[in-house]
Amino acid sequence: MAIDRFGRTINYLRISLTDHCNLRCVYCMPEEMVFRPNAEMMQDDEVLYFVRLFADLGFHKFRLTGGEPTVRANIVELVRDIAATPGVRSLSMTTNGVLLKKLAIPLKEAGLQRVNISLDTLDPEKFRRLTRWGKLEDVWDGITAAETAGLAPIKVNAVVVRGYNEKDVADLARLTYEHNWQVRFIEMMPFAGATELQTTQTVQSNEMLATIETALGTLEQVNNGKLDGEARLYRLPGARGTVGFISTVSAPFCAECNRARLTADGVLRMCLLREREINLLTPLRQGASEEELRQLILDTIWIKPWGHGLADGITPLNRVMSEIGG
Ligand code: SAM
Ligand code: SF4
Repeated sequence: MAIDRFGRTINYLRISLTDHCNLRCVYCMPEEMVFRPNAEMMQDDEVLYFVRLFADLGFHKFRLTGGEPTVRANIVELVRDIAATPGVRSLSMTTNGVLLKKLAIPLKEAGLQRVNISLDTLDPEKFRRLTRWGKLEDVWDGITAAETAGLAPIKVNAVVVRGYNEKDVADLARLTYEHNWQVRFIEMMPFAGATELQTTQTVQSNEMLATIETALGTLEQVNNGKLDGEARLYRLPGARGTVGFISTVSAPFCAECNRARLTADGVLRMCLLREREINLLTPLRQGASEEELRQLILDTIWIKPWGHGLADGITPLNRVMSEIGG
């Protein structure tokens, strides 16, 4: 079992399968993003090697992310092999949904259990502005396909950005009346220098909650306010689904954090908002033994940070979100 110096058990690995993406969301990457060459990325056998190693260390929850994981070549075969790895009990994916219309059923059949789909607005024009060229209907088709395939429960992720979609939270929350989805609103995190957005464009959860309540009435707390993963959940009266708030900026959930992140180039990052990282792929390629890599992972987990430094003006500069995976 992998634990850190604060006594947290770390058993959830988020793997970024690629830094490439078929969209360019304004809060995630610059329009002229330069992607890494394929040779620098973990190859399929290297991803599987690390999945097995982390599973041996007691990790049982795995999430595939990106960039956009569905644009990776052989994604269905890779999911099948990850799902078949002993110790992998939970396997999910975070995706923009654009390719799910054709991939939802093959991914489900390969062993993927659930998807989180990003959708920041229901307005096609605003969607295009936020993603720089995306088509809302592609994502909507993707959500429908995921639901039909049984990739449930569906979670919809909306990053809220002032000046773009802060007024759209009520329309998105309204989806939960009809659909048994978890619609989660995410506070935008600043990755300084990486995107043009400033810290002042982050909208805090309490403001989003107030906007929804003004439009739709009081939100009832679910689970007495206990976190569900990273989200605090609420329900609109009579709604089938739930509304969640992921308040990474205003109320970090470090005490509950059980995550590690493996970037597409094989670097282990223990906190989204802290720059410290340890490269695992280079030693693997240089012939490090399994025992050496296992020790490197355990040592890195041990010093997992607690707390981000945003209030002190410390923002991560070494990677944009698409390179870490969210
Ligand atoms: N391409 C996939 C997608 O968009 O869902 C997976 C990768 S994306 C980096 C993972 C999650 O991070 C998405 O829900 C996305 O909206 C979110 N995200 C990206 N940039 C963010 C930022 N600056 N602050 C908060 N969340 C962000
Ligand atoms: Fe691509 Fe996801 Fe980043 Fe949007 S949030 S640019 S879809 S990786």
